[in-house]
Amino acid sequence: MPIDPNSCPGVCNRRYREAVNAYDLAVDQHVAAMQEWLALPGDDRGPRPEPPELPSTPFTVGAPIWDPGCSRLIRGALAELDDTAALLAAAVDGHRGAALAGPNGATAPDHKTIVDTLDEVFGFLVEVEDQWRQARGYRPRPHRARGAHARAVCVGWLLDQLDDILLHQGSVEFGLGVLRWQRRLRAMSKSDPASRRSPIRCPRCRERQVSRRDDGYYECLCGRLLNEAEHDREYAEQADEHDHQQQEVGAS
Ligand SMILES: [Zn+2]
Ligand SMILES: [Zn+2]
Repeated sequence: MPIDPNSCPGVCNRRYREAVNAYDLAVDQHVAAMQEWLALPGDDRGPRPEPPELPSTPFTVGAPIWDPGCSRLIRGALAELDDTAALLAAAVDGHRGAALAGPNGATAPDHKTIVDTLDEVFGFLVEVEDQWRQARGYRPRPHRARGAHARAVCVGWLLDQLDDILLHQGSVEFGLGVLRWQRRLRAMSKSDPASRRSPIRCPRCRERQVSRRDDGYYECLCGRLLNEAEHDREYAEQADEHDHQQQEVGAS
């Protein structure tokens, strides 16, 4: 039984898809049971195997691909990808000196895995950007040096285009990919407590010693507290400054 093409491919229809798969399995089992039953001589036959019932699990219709709930989930996950990636990258940077100093041979977290994963996320994101630019006849992606800033710019661009992208048939793979990456990066940042560190400089003491707390606030060792919006604004401004400085260095 095919999955209804009008159903949203997101998490909202997980139960529906499970029910369809279970039904398909039951149909196969019924076919096998019928063959066995037919092969028996008439007198030895028990009751004829009952065919499975059609699943009655309702599904959410996508409009036209995703329903509004899943669209919101994907938007949130995409924005979160950049935040989590930035935290993971900051963790790698923060460890670099410590790993070299390495007291009593303590094994540093596997930074190569983090770096490779962030590279993979970036590859996933720019591929979508490139495909969408091509599909829409936009100019090709401007060259940007690989790194945190390029990733943030790409995510920002995709968020800007997201409503249109999600109306497109090709967005099924993209949307599910974003959700998968969200799970993967979340798991990674949980297993590395240092990734709670934010890459920003504290707006009060200018030190890079700001960490994310469990309640969603960011706190500097100097005591300065930032809510998420303040933190993100600070992050964006500092990324711009950084970019600007890079350009000045390049020009001189
Ligand atoms: Zn959905
Ligand atoms: Zn501070």
